[in-house]
Parts: sequence; C-alpha cells; structure tokens
Amino acid sequence: MHHRFQRARLAPDGFAVDSVKFVGVRVQIQLRPRLPTGICPDCGLQSRRVQSQYVRRPADLPPGGRRVDLTIVARRFWCDAVLCGRRIFCEQFDNSVLARYGRRTQRLETIVHHLGLAQGGRPAAAFANRLMMPVSNLTLLQQALARQSMLQPGPSAPDRATQP
Ligand SMILES: [Zn+2]
Repeated sequence: MHHRFQRARLAPDGFAVDSVKFVGVRVQIQLRPRLPTGICPDCGLQSRRVQSQYVRRPADLPPGGRRVDLTIVARRFWCDAVLCGRRIFCEQFDNSVLARYGRRTQRLETIVHHLGLAQGGRPAAAFANRLMMPVSNLTLLQQALARQSMLQPGPSAPDRATQP
C-alpha cells in the first residue's frame, strides 16, 4: 500500500490539477478546466478565443484530513457568432460540480445540505468544523430553515377564508 497523494483525485470532474502545495495544515490546490472551449450561454456556440482569465475560490471538501484552499483559473471567451448579442461570456461549469455563482463545490454543498437538515445550525457547525469543512453556523441554519419553509405552506398558499 502506498500513501502518495494522487493529484488527479483532488480535482472534481472536468478539472485538471495544475499545482498542489502543502502549507502547514492546509493544502493549496490550483485547478484549471479540462475543456479548451467555452459555450456561449446566449447562442450555444463554442468558442476557443480566450478574452481573459479570472479566479474563483470555492470552498471544497478537505482532502486527506487537511483544510483546502481551492483556486480555479477560469476564462472569459469571445463569442464570435454574428447574430449573438453577447460579445464576451464567462465559462460555466457543470452544475453538478460547481454552480454558476456557487461559493462551494457541489460535493461540499451536498454534505452541508444534509448536515443542516440533520442537525440544524450550531451543532452542525461544530460537527462540520471537526470534519474541517469550511461552513458557518449561519449557512447551516439557513439550510435548516429552507427545509422548514419547504415543508410548511408559504404566504402564497391560497387562503381558504377569502374564497367563496
Ligand atoms: Zn453567443
């Protein structure tokens, strides 16, 4: 049995690992998307013309018992379709990996969701902290409240008293 860190396993689907750095109890992982193209959200055309790069830093699961700082170098592409109103677009990732404005990877989001449901705010936050997952009390409480409001009829439910 060997204990070498397998770099490829650190990356969510669709990403490649550019670098891994161990800094104290943390691990800094830099990822880049595997695909050379982006798809324009307006016209659906693929583009290879990179306009610029930007960085996303979503929270992620701790690999090998270390807290992780994830850096994704994402791209903006030119859309070259003549009739498309959009000139530049940010690349988007598979929603099952990282949502458009997601601050957490989906694999962490799923665990946060279930922790929030099972334990509510404060106990879940303590538990998440022991698992070295970067999730706040408030986030877990919001998960629990969102679940509650799904179970109860909201204010938009029909009011029987006003119906004939
Ligand atoms: Zn377009």
